Amino acid sequence: MKFGGTSVEDAAAILRTAAIVAGRRRKGLNPIVVVSAMAKVTDTLLAAAAAAGNNDRESALRLSEGLRTRHLDVAAALVADPDRLTSLQLTLHHDFDSLDDLLRGISAVGELTPRTSDHVVSFGERLSSAIVTAAFAEQSLSSAHVDARNVILTDANYGKATPHPRAIENALTAQVLPLVELGRVPVLGGFIGSCDGITTTLGRGGSDYTAALIGGALHTGAIEIWTDVDGIMTTDPRIVPEALRVKTISFEEAAELAYFGAKVLHPATILPAVQKNIPVYVLNSRNAENPGTRITATPPPCASPFKSIAAKKKLTIIDIVASRMLLAHGFLKSVFDVFDKHQCAIDMVSTSEVSISVTVDSKQALPAICAELSQLADVKYESNKALICLVGEDIRGISGIAAQVFAAVSHINIRMISQGASEINMSFMINEEDVEEAVRSLHTKFFAAPDAAIFDVESVPGVAGLSRR
Ligand code: ADP
Ligand code: ASP
Ligand code: MG
Repeated sequence: MKFGGTSVEDAAAILRTAAIVAGRRRKGLNPIVVVSAMAKVTDTLLAAAAAAGNNDRESALRLSEGLRTRHLDVAAALVADPDRLTSLQLTLHHDFDSLDDLLRGISAVGELTPRTSDHVVSFGERLSSAIVTAAFAEQSLSSAHVDARNVILTDANYGKATPHPRAIENALTAQVLPLVELGRVPVLGGFIGSCDGITTTLGRGGSDYTAALIGGALHTGAIEIWTDVDGIMTTDPRIVPEALRVKTISFEEAAELAYFGAKVLHPATILPAVQKNIPVYVLNSRNAENPGTRITATPPPCASPFKSIAAKKKLTIIDIVASRMLLAHGFLKSVFDVFDKHQCAIDMVSTSEVSISVTVDSKQALPAICAELSQLADVKYESNKALICLVGEDIRGISGIAAQVFAAVSHINIRMISQGASEINMSFMINEEDVEEAVRSLHTKFFAAPDAAIFDVESVPGVAGLSRR
């Protein structure tokens, strides 16, 4: 069971989380709990690290002080037992003292390396997991804190480390299973790991991944991702408030959605689950009775072509034009080698005889990449682009679907199109400022008469029963 930042954001949220876990225990299940940092803490820690890296010691320490107060307040609100509270406060103060030492050190050198950044940001999950463990105990839920860094063993790619599944399985068997066998609920911080004793992280949103790695390694009966929405929705409810819950979705569809921007799930979450065919559920910790979304190998057929629409902002399109390379073989390889060298992932590609356009989401390496590409071709790039991705198993072989999609966004300028790379996704690139309008238009077009077998139409007055296969 993984609880995201909003599910542990304050004392009330942590109490709801404890009640949900206790409910699973009453059903005779033995959950392992993974928690994120409290909402916004990761961002604040990154801001503190950045300030320290700019020699701004005062700002860094002020941000840390704010976090210290917030964590101590939540601890005091949750834990009444004096011994337990004293011990938790000691842990929190000890962690914040080391964080402050670290921030002072970073501002003294005025340099923030990815390795130190991971160290700073790891405090978020270390602190939240300590508080949640104590809060569970206070609610008579026998719990045990496990330092995730001793379990989630990774390579040394700071900021986005790759886990070592075999080593993780061994560590879980040695350190976590014995706790489960004693009837205790292990609580681990998500997102963090280690390589040779040095702290690493799995990348933003990585707590989902931690849960999936644990579920996959121990072959658990389910992986539950508890968040602040009712499940995977037909699109981001922040853009379309009337988005519907998708009751079931396939692993492939969920993976495409996650990769192309649906923040509700980390893209890597699906893999460990697929490999062992473990069902993944996305559930709402503020509405625990709701059945959420079930992600499975083969979902039932759906009458609507699409299940969900994702959008990913902050992308850059790079146009590489090489008329002198006309038909030269090996050209694509030399282009992709440049991206590979800078470890820059490409989201979308489109080619013509003399040119190739690619989209990337990293701005960092862009100047270096473009400088190298200029030796091969003429290079231009445009930032502030966004990708819109429509996902559905049932678009395979539907004729006229592309016409319907583009008719719905005929008033929006489309910069690049891709279909067919996977048979279940259609994507295109637009300007960032058009995202909301494009998503709303597509949502209106494709979810006006949703299939009640797949979408939660019961939640929408007047729509229920409208569409049956
Ligand atoms: P957590 O902190 O629990 O991991 P996140 O903020 O990472 O939560 O993810 C949940 C958010 O994802 C939701 O609040 C919602 O705004 C956003 N989101 C984007 N696309 C979707 C979608 N298709 N379905 C549900 N939520 C989505
Ligand atoms: N706390 C981390 C983040 O905000 C990891 C997570 O929440 O999944 O990115
Ligand atoms: Mg998340």
